[in-house]
Formats: sequence, structure tokens, C-alpha cells
Amino acid sequence: MPELPDVETFRRYANATSLHQRIEHTRMESPELLKGTSPQGLGRALKGRTFASSRRHGKYLLLALDSGGWLVMHFGMSGELKYFQDRRDTPDYTRLLIRFGNGRLLAYIAPRKLGGISLVDTPQELIEGRDLGPDALELGEKEFIELAGRHHGGAKSWFMDQKNIAGIGNIYSDEILFQAGIHPKAVLGNMEEADLRRLYKKMRSVLRRAISAHADPERMPAGFLLPHRRQGGRCPKCGSTLAKSRTGARTAWYCPACQKH
Ligand SMILES: [Zn+2]
Repeated sequence: MPELPDVETFRRYANATSLHQRIEHTRMESPELLKGTSPQGLGRALKGRTFASSRRHGKYLLLALDSGGWLVMHFGMSGELKYFQDRRDTPDYTRLLIRFGNGRLLAYIAPRKLGGISLVDTPQELIEGRDLGPDALELGEKEFIELAGRHHGGAKSWFMDQKNIAGIGNIYSDEILFQAGIHPKAVLGNMEEADLRRLYKKMRSVLRRAISAHADPERMPAGFLLPHRRQGGRCPKCGSTLAKSRTGARTAWYCPACQKH
């Protein structure tokens, strides 16, 4: 599922391809992915406008319209963006196709139709409407320690709940806990402040390094757990066989030797 590093990569891609060009036409192939508007409403809001800038909050990408207002994209389980030249190259599972004045196209692709597209007046409207916590890369250390230190459930479930902190899902919660040497079920509220501080630093470094690798598992640093998260996978630090543990509907992968606490 696209998490913060993936969506940040999409944001940079949109910046590099799709800003400041007049939107000629939009075609919504899967209207059920629209929240709070219709294909016609979306078309009216976008036609003749340009995307002036972009923002990201957690796993949401926001594109600012030069007329005011924002187009919001969520990528569900496996969504992505593609900018291209020839309509015949339209990718499979394109749910929204935007055609610009220069003839180029931007496709919002969502194979499993689990994403979502909406319009908001301000980013705040999205954050409040979805009850999202602070973005994981915008949260300060003091605030992190305060929020996490109040939690009396497992560390992994705290990270994954977008109401606590926005942007981290199944994969990066495992990576952050692995890098910090903390068990996925450890209770944050029972930890020393020094441990929470270390966890905060690891959260930031994991997210930043994943962004530098364009969220591509094959380009992650050698010490990352991410490419080894599977049955029989081995810990890149000590070579132990990875273990898994269930947290709600999700499976946490961890190293039983390196993540004891
Ligand atoms: Zn290990």
C-alpha cells in the first residue's frame, strides 16, 4: 500500500510533470472513487485551471488549483500516477485521466479501486474531515513523545492508526520498529523517554531514506528490513529468521533477536 514515502514520490513526480499547465479535459472512468462530487462536478472544477502547487499530508496527495481549492488523491492499496504523451499509452486501471493544454496526459491508476478522489477548499478540511493526526514528517520530537507516550496499546498499531500519526502503514511501521530495536507489540506508554526519542529519530531517518530511494524496495539501504519481509526472510543485521506477529488484520515482521523490547 502506498505509504508516506510512496506518496511523497508521487508528489515530486506531479511537481516535475503536471504543474502550471492548463487542464483541458478530465475523464473519470470510475465515478465510485469520487467522494463528495460527481464526474461533472470534478470536470467543472478542473477545466481551464492549472495545478499551482502540491502538498502531502500522510498518505494523501493534494494538488492546489490556481483558482483556489485542492484536488485530493488517495492511492488505496496499489495506486500510482503516470504522465505520458500518447493517449494510446493510457495505462490499465486508469481511473482518472487529465488532459493538459500541451496534449500530455496524467493518469491516476488504481488497480483495486480502493483509492479515492475528492475536492476540498483547504488542506485543513481534509485533515479534519478524515480525522487525521499530524503528518509523520512534520511532527516535532516533543509532540511525538507526548502523543506516543500516552498510548497503552502496541507500538505497531499506534503507528498504523492515521488518527494518531498520518502516513505510516504496515511496511514502514515494521521498518521503523526494526531500526529502533523495538518489538511491534511493545507498549509505547511504558517506555523511557530516551527510547521514545530514539524511536522518533528512527522514524524520521527511515522515512527520509525511503524517500531518497524513491520508495523502491530494490533501492533501500542494505540494513533495511523491507526487502526481507517474507516467510524465511532473514534479519539484515544478525541473520536470524524473521518472525511474524498478528496485529489486528495486519502481519508484523520483526527480528526476534534484535527487537526484544
Ligand atoms: Zn536481528
